[in-house]
Amino acid sequence: MAFSDHPTATPETISDLVDCHDRMLRRDPGEPEFHQAVREVLASLPPVLDARPRLAAARLLERIVEPERQILFRVPWQDDEGRVHVNRGFRVEFNSALGPYKGGLRFHPSVNLGIVKFLGFEQIFKNALTGLGIGGGKGGSDFDPQGRSDDEIMRFCQSFMTELYRHVGESTDVPAGDIGVGGREIGYLFGQYRRITNRWEAGVLTGKGRGWGGSACRTEATGYGNVMFTAEMLRRRGEDLDGRQVVVSGSGNVAIYSVEKAQALGANVVTVSDSHGYVVDEKGIDLELLKHTKEVERGRVADYAERRGASARFVAGGSVWDVPADIALPSATQNELDGAAALALVRNGVRAVSEGANMPCTPDAVKVFRDAGVAFGPGKAANAGGVAVSALEMRQNAGRESWTFARAETELAAIMKDIHDTCYATAERYGAPGDYVVGANIAGFERVADAMIAQGLV
Ligand code: NDP
Repeated sequence: MAFSDHPTATPETISDLVDCHDRMLRRDPGEPEFHQAVREVLASLPPVLDARPRLAAARLLERIVEPERQILFRVPWQDDEGRVHVNRGFRVEFNSALGPYKGGLRFHPSVNLGIVKFLGFEQIFKNALTGLGIGGGKGGSDFDPQGRSDDEIMRFCQSFMTELYRHVGESTDVPAGDIGVGGREIGYLFGQYRRITNRWEAGVLTGKGRGWGGSACRTEATGYGNVMFTAEMLRRRGEDLDGRQVVVSGSGNVAIYSVEKAQALGANVVTVSDSHGYVVDEKGIDLELLKHTKEVERGRVADYAERRGASARFVAGGSVWDVPADIALPSATQNELDGAAALALVRNGVRAVSEGANMPCTPDAVKVFRDAGVAFGPGKAANAGGVAVSALEMRQNAGRESWTFARAETELAAIMKDIHDTCYATAERYGAPGDYVVGANIAGFERVADAMIAQGLV
């Protein structure tokens, strides 16, 4: 990225951005996803840095790209045959200017420090956008849960928490789920935390079961929130989801509840996917069958297609983005939608793209959407519903309350509308009307930067 491409940036601002970027590349080599996430934020900042020279004087950029704390640890565990395995655990406590570190745990073989840092960096601004007083962090392990028995998952989670417990706490750092970490894993992690600490500290993890401190609507929140954000973007354009054809990637937590909410708003969702391929279901995804296949049987989307009958076909490999759609909701993983896929979507008439996953669209893809005038919702705004309801779960835990589903969903809807409106208004204020990337990056950055300045040299 050439920061000098920015049409209005002063030479001082460009030089600050280049310094920050080059220093990061020197100090953190081999972390391409982290570099990508930082570059994307820095590229949005020239107007705010030009307008507020104090941020440059305080060397805010250098501070904000450096995590407050990075924890790496060994996770030894035994499989069902008694073999010993050693995985690596991570927790990056990135920024606590606005509140306790908050962000999920990812269990996936691709996890490394750079991936956790990219996710933690995104989380800072996402959490700031919610307005709920939570800092940014992220963690996980290169453990692969696929094909593992319940007992193996439990033993791994217990070993992981046996180290993690000393770094987390309801007012310190509050993890949740992410890829490979759902309700089952949160249960095992919470159980081990409770045994070690002898504390019923419900607020230490979010995404808990409803019967023991979890919030209504947390499971649904990220997918629902992303569709709510999409609906707001469309509403600005005088459109809605009713009767629209939607493609969704992924078939995990975010994907399933994106399908549910999009269908509730009248859309016809025709795809889901996993790392083996995708399903096209001309009649629209059968939500109950999808939930049963994924949440109960822990099966694959190919199993869904097999049971669904004639309306659905499974495509091994290939690109889900070749399926024509009005709206695309990438909800699997980072960099799953590249420039070529974006061009295919645009050629097929896509009107809105909203990121359920974190950074699923490559920079080339984002450029294609922006150039084509497609409404584009960046993940740090569009998928903030999950962490927002996590923060509401913390609030309920602190007050020993348990809200109804309707109350939690109503609060979620209000938060998503507020995030949308904040991004929209900020983009307009800084000369980029309709650009939610600029709006989200600047609005999130300003909240964190103002807190850091007020708190001295932190
Ligand atoms: P899940 O583990 O529930 O589901 C992940 C889905 O994505 C699975 O269908 C999985 O397929 C697919 N997937 C993962 N990695 C790849 C890959 N490399 N290639 C193709 N498909 C892949 O995770 P979530 O639904 O919770 O998370 C999905 C995305 O949403 C992530 O980017 C996450 O960071 C983001 N997110 C999640 C939030 C939450 O509340 N859960 C909150 C905000 C963002 P397979 O089973 O084959 O691996």
